[in-house]
Amino acid sequence: MSDWQELEKKYFMSTFKRLPVTLVRGQGIRVWDDKGKEYLDFVGGWAVNVLGHCHPVITDALNEQSRTLIQVSNQFYTIPQLRLAELLVENCCLDRVFFSSSGAEANEGAIKLARKYGRIHLDGAYEIITAMGSFHGRTMATIAATGQRKFQEPFVPLPGGFINVEYNNIEAIKAATSALTCAVMLEPLQGENGVNIPDSDYFHEVRKWCDRNGLLLILDEIQTGMGRTGTLFAYEQLGIEPDIMTLAKGLGGGVPIAAVLAREKAAVFSPGEHGSTFGGNPLVCAVGYAVLSFILENGVPASVREVGAYLMAELDRLRSSFDFITDVRGRGLLVALEFEGEISGKVIEACIERGLLLNPVKPNAVRFMPPLITRKKEVDEAMGILKDALIQIS
Ligand SMILES: *Cc1c(COP(=O)(O)O)cnc(C)c1O
Repeated sequence: MSDWQELEKKYFMSTFKRLPVTLVRGQGIRVWDDKGKEYLDFVGGWAVNVLGHCHPVITDALNEQSRTLIQVSNQFYTIPQLRLAELLVENCCLDRVFFSSSGAEANEGAIKLARKYGRIHLDGAYEIITAMGSFHGRTMATIAATGQRKFQEPFVPLPGGFINVEYNNIEAIKAATSALTCAVMLEPLQGENGVNIPDSDYFHEVRKWCDRNGLLLILDEIQTGMGRTGTLFAYEQLGIEPDIMTLAKGLGGGVPIAAVLAREKAAVFSPGEHGSTFGGNPLVCAVGYAVLSFILENGVPASVREVGAYLMAELDRLRSSFDFITDVRGRGLLVALEFEGEISGKVIEACIERGLLLNPVKPNAVRFMPPLITRKKEVDEAMGILKDALIQIS
């Protein structure tokens, strides 16, 4: 057998801090490595595998569509794309959709829409206010939007027109607003920065400020969408509606598909101004349709609320046994456990040994983002492993 980790070192660009596990197979919420060892997967393809691994709904859609039509160009109408467009739009507050292949690319679409809107309706305003600690992707424009120096610094100069202000602070948005501002772009909660949840009135204030100044509100629901936080979209819990919303991760349940959705007034592209070769091809859209149908028909968001609350309660119980646990926070099945010291690497390692995969979201915090079909008994199993691991390192 090849030493895959040596091959990686030799041939792959050195961009990922990988964990020492080579995964070869998955089923439900479990995966297996190249030595046959089984793991409970609470990373879930990075909040992507909403139906777990190799769910029949996904494999059937893939099988059928791959024998029918995989890719044509977007100069033709294709049926899976239009069926998914209808199902998505009919189940959210927005009016139109465009499909792309990654989250960053969907956010690029949102940024282009905001620029064009500013050009037409706001006297050429082009600046977008975003939050520090946010994550919007790895393209040049989306790292300019991402308010984290470590992602920006190696690549300056970045495209202009982005102002990063403190998250959860409406005054910071007000202070950054000028005649040049066309939009505010935010995550409903900051997933990549450790599951940071803003105060309950923050988004009401942001929405009011955008309305008063004619600005677009863009919500990046790439991580929070598709039922992850216990409602189909996180904005439903914020009590406000965005003008533009982006989706990716869970949308295809594992196939690369993303979307930018907009209200009619913000859907300002003219023919030829935006496009994508792969975006919304029949294969990924057939899977996206199957996934969204499953989520809607099986009450997945309600089950996420229940199992997510159970996971948080169990983590709170652990917190009372281990004094180095300082916080448990999350929404639905997007949860972080924070520690006093920078021990998340050790926690992850001890969990891997015992057959549980978690994400070290920060040096002092681990993140849980299991498939949305996870049940309480699997949470129990994960908690048993985590407790053992915490005992070992404490
Ligand atoms: C993952 C993520 C992105 C980037 O998505 P990619 O598919 O990796 O380009 C953007 N925004 C948020 C909130 C994300 O979680």
